[in-house]
Amino acid sequence: MEEGKGGCITIEDAYDMLYMHIHREDITYKGKKYKKSFYFKDGLKCLTKIKVAQNEESAKDYMEGLIESNYIYLLNNTQNTNEIICRFHKDSPDHGHQPDKSKTWSLVLKQAKGNPFISLKGITDFKEKCPFVTSMYLDQYNCKLYDAIRPVEWVDPIPEGPYDVIIIGAGMGGMTAAIKAVQHNFKVALIERSYMGGEHYNTGMITFNVLEHCAEIIQKLNEAQTLGLEISKDTWKLSMKKVMEQVRQKRAHIAPEFCSVFSFTDTYGVDLYLGNAKFIGPQTIIVNSKILQYSKAIIATGSQLTIPKLEGLSDVPYYTIETIYNMTKRPNSLVIYGWGQVACAYAQVFQRMRIDVTLLSEEKKLLKCATSEGINKYTEHTLKYLGVKVFTGVTIIGIDNNKEGKNVSYAISVDVKGVKYVINCQAILIATPKTVGVLFDS
Ligand SMILES: Cc1cc2nc3c(=O)[nH]c(=O)nc-3n(C[C@H](O)[C@H](O)[C@H](O)COP(=O)(O)OP(=O)(O)OC[C@H]3O[C@@H](n4cnc5c(N)ncnc54)[C@H](O)[C@@H]3O)c2cc1C
Repeated sequence: MEEGKGGCITIEDAYDMLYMHIHREDITYKGKKYKKSFYFKDGLKCLTKIKVAQNEESAKDYMEGLIESNYIYLLNNTQNTNEIICRFHKDSPDHGHQPDKSKTWSLVLKQAKGNPFISLKGITDFKEKCPFVTSMYLDQYNCKLYDAIRPVEWVDPIPEGPYDVIIIGAGMGGMTAAIKAVQHNFKVALIERSYMGGEHYNTGMITFNVLEHCAEIIQKLNEAQTLGLEISKDTWKLSMKKVMEQVRQKRAHIAPEFCSVFSFTDTYGVDLYLGNAKFIGPQTIIVNSKILQYSKAIIATGSQLTIPKLEGLSDVPYYTIETIYNMTKRPNSLVIYGWGQVACAYAQVFQRMRIDVTLLSEEKKLLKCATSEGINKYTEHTLKYLGVKVFTGVTIIGIDNNKEGKNVSYAISVDVKGVKYVINCQAILIATPKTVGVLFDS
C-alpha cells in the first residue's frame, strides 16, 4: 500500500474516495470532447473538501500519486493548470484498445534480429489477420509510427446498439468526418483496414514534401557551383539511405500527432475497428466478424494502388509510390512509368537529386485532368528543362534484367509512336494514377 506524499491516507483509499465524490462530465476543450472527465483543479478541491488532504499542497501530492499509480490519466496537453483535464482509467469506455502495451513494433524488429524487411509470418499472426496492411518496413522511425497508427495487436470494441454514423476509411477524409461527427454528438464508428492517416500521412503530401525539401537543398548546392562552389563529379555522393531516413523520421514525428489510434479512441471517443469493412445488408456492415448497424454510413475509402500488367514487370524488383520511402541505395538512373501529377512530381524530385530520370507515359498528355493544353505543355517543358527525359504515348513491350551493362540493371523495351527503343536503368518506379474504387463485395 502506498501512502500519499502529503498525508496518512493511502493512495488506494484516496482513489476510492475521490472516485465516489468527484463530479464527472463531458468537457469540451479546443474543439475536442472528453467524456466522463473532470478538471485537475476540481480534483484538488474535492480531495480537500472530503478531507483526504489537509490543504491544496497535499491535495496536489495526492493527485500526482493517483496519476503515477495509473488511477487517473491526463487527457490534454497544457501548461495552464486550470485547464488540465483528467479521467479515471476505470471510466474509460472501451472504444477499441491495445491489449498489451509492451508488444511494440520495436520488439517485433528485435525478434527479427534488426532486419527491417521482416517477414511477419511466424513472428505474429499480424499478416494473416491484416492482409490489407502492405509494405511494412521496420526501422526505429517506422516502429514509432506503426505503434501509433497500426499497433501490433488491437482489440476492436464490442458494438452496442446502432451507430449514428459509420465511416469506412481513416484517411484524411474519414478522419475529418469522424471528428466532425463526434463534435455533433453522434455515436461514431471508424473502420480502417490498413494504416490510420491513409495516403496523406503515410505516402502523400507529408512524405513528399520532406523529399522535395531534400531535393531543393541538393539543387541549391548544384546551383551554387555558378558562384564558385566546387563539387567534383567524381566525389559527388548522396546517401539515399539518409534521405529516406529523414523522410521516415519526419513522418514518425508528424503522423502520430494527428492520426494515432489512441487519439481517436481516448480523445474523441470514436469506436475504432481495424479491419476490412463490407456491407452485408441494409444499414449493416461487417468488420472482423463483428456486425455493425448504422443510421448513416460515409464511404471514405480513397483510391487504390493498382499495378499495371506489363510484360516482365513481375520478374524484376520495382518501387511503387507506397514503397519508395524504403529505398536504401541511390540509383544512377530511374525509369518512372506513370502519368498524372504524382508521376511528374516524383520525376522532378529525383532528377533534382541528380538521378537520371526517364518518364514513360502511356497517355499522350501528362496531365489528363489539366483544364488547358498550356498546362500540359508547361509541365512537360519544365520537366525537360530539369533534365528529365519525357516520352508520352508509350507502349511497354517488355522489361528484362539487363545482363550486359556494367551499371545497368534493367532494360525496358518501348514503342513510342511506332519507334522502338530500349531504355536502361538501375531502378523502376511505378507511379500510374491510383484508381478510384470502392472495393466492396456487395
Ligand atoms: C505524393 C503525393 C502528394 C500529394 N500531395 C497533395 C497535396 O499537396 N494536396 C492535396 O490536396 N492532395 C495531395 N495528394 C492527394 C491526397 O493525399 C489524397 O487526395 C488524400 O489523402 C485522399 O484522402 P482520402 O481520405 O480520400 O483517401 P485515403 O487517404 O486513400 O484513405 C482511404 C482509407 O480507406 C481505407 N479503406 C479502403 N477500403 C476500405 C475498407 N473496405 N474497409 C476499411 N478501410 C478501407 C484505406 O486503407 C485508406 O486508409 C497527394 C498524393 C500523393 C501520392
